[in-house]
Amino acid sequence: MKAEIITVGTELLLGEITDTNSAYLASELPQLGLDLHFMSTVGDNQKRIIDTLKLAWQRSDVIIVTGGLGPTQDDVTREAVAEFLGEEITIDGELVKRFEELFRRYGMEMPPSNIKQAAVIPSAKIIPNPRGTAPGWWIEKDNRVIITMPGPPGEMQLMWTREVFPRLRQLAGGHVIVSRTIKTFGLTEAEVDEQVSRFLSSTNPTLATYAKRDGIYLRITAKAASEMEARSLIEQREADVRGIIGDYIWGVDSDSLEGAVGSLLKARGLTIATAELYTGGLLASMMADVPDCSSYFKGGLVACSLEAVKAFGIDSGTKDRHGGASVELAEAMAGAVRSTMGASIGFSLIGSDGGGEADSGTAGNIFISVDSGKEMRSFQRRSFGNRARARQRAVISALFELRRFLLEEAECT
Ligand code: ATP
Repeated sequence: MKAEIITVGTELLLGEITDTNSAYLASELPQLGLDLHFMSTVGDNQKRIIDTLKLAWQRSDVIIVTGGLGPTQDDVTREAVAEFLGEEITIDGELVKRFEELFRRYGMEMPPSNIKQAAVIPSAKIIPNPRGTAPGWWIEKDNRVIITMPGPPGEMQLMWTREVFPRLRQLAGGHVIVSRTIKTFGLTEAEVDEQVSRFLSSTNPTLATYAKRDGIYLRITAKAASEMEARSLIEQREADVRGIIGDYIWGVDSDSLEGAVGSLLKARGLTIATAELYTGGLLASMMADVPDCSSYFKGGLVACSLEAVKAFGIDSGTKDRHGGASVELAEAMAGAVRSTMGASIGFSLIGSDGGGEADSGTAGNIFISVDSGKEMRSFQRRSFGNRARARQRAVISALFELRRFLLEEAECT
C-alpha cells in the first residue's frame, strides 16, 4: 500500500518551524510495510489543501494529514477534507460535552471557538486525542484512508502510537519493512559505492549509501511477510557488505563513535583523559555526550594556541624543539595529560588551525596520539573543509583511530 503525508501550516512554509511531524511519521511507516512515496506541505488555505488532497487521492492509498485542527479561523483542515469529499459538517454534541467537562476540570469555561473542534462528517470516525482537545478523523472511503491528526508533535505522536498505528497495522495486512544502517569511516562515498556496486541495484533488500558527518552510511532495507524474514534478508546482505568493507565499519543503527569508544573503555576497566589543540574542546564534549562517561572519562585539557599548550605541563623545551604542530607534540600532549589526570590512557588531538580562513576548503594536517603507558601510537591525517567541518572531521578521525587502537589492544591481550 502506498502512503502519503501532508503537513498543514503556513508557519512550516515560512520556515518558522521545522516539519518534524513528517520525519517522525516517515520513520514509523516502514514498520507497517507502507511505502511512502510523497510528502507535501501546504499552508493554512482551504483551496490549496483541497488541491493537495486531490493529488494524493489519485496516487496514494493512505493519506495522513497533520495540523490545522485547532479552534482558530485559520485552522481549516476539517473544512477542506469535508469539501473535498463532498460531505456536510455537523457538530457532535457528545464531543462538545466532553470538551466542556475538560475545560471545567481546569477551572475554565470553554471558549465558543472550541465548538469547531467537535465537527464531524458522516464518513469520519473520531480519533480521541489523549493530550488535547483536537480529535483526529479516521476516514475510509473508496478504498482509500484519510487520517487527520493535530499539529503539535506531542499530541500527534501519542495519537499515532495509541490509536492510528494499531488500526493501520490491521489494515496493512502484515507486511513489514525493516532497515539497518551500517556506519563506516575512512572511505569516500564514491569509494563505498564502487565497492558495493553489485548490490546497489537489488530490489529486496535494497542498499543505499549516504554521507553523514561521522562517515558514510549504508542502509539496507528489506520487505517481507514477517519481521524475522526481513531481518534474515538484511543479515545476509550485511554479511556481504562486511566481507568487502568490514575494516571501515565502526557501528550500526543508533551506535555513535563516542559511545563505541566508551563501551570499549568500560568493558576493559580503562580510564582516559584528552588533550586538544585547535579543536576547541569538541573531542572532550563528544566524549562527555555519552551517559555514564564519568566512569571512564577523567576530563580534557583544551588549548587554542601553541603558547597555551604549556598549561598541559609540557616543558617549553619540547614545544620549542618542534616549533609547531607535529607528531612529537601530539605525543608529548598525550603523555602529559595521562600523567596529569592519572588516566590509563592519554589521548591527544591536534586539529588543523585552518590558517584563519573561514571557508578555505584547503586541507590541513591533524595529529592524533594514544599513550597507554605500554605503547604510544600516533597517526597523521588530512582534514578538509571550512573550520567547523575540519574541527568535526578531526574529532571523528581521532575517535575512529582510538576505537581501532582499543580493539587491537584487546586482541593482543
Ligand atoms: P492546535 O491548534 O491545537 O495547536 P493544530 O492541529 O491546529 O493544533 P497547528 O495550528 O497547525 O496544529 O500547529 C500547532 C503547532 O504545532 C505549531 O505552532 C507547531 O508548533 C506545531 N506543529 C504543527 N505542525 C507541525 C509539524 N509538521 N512539525 C512540527 N511541529 C508542528
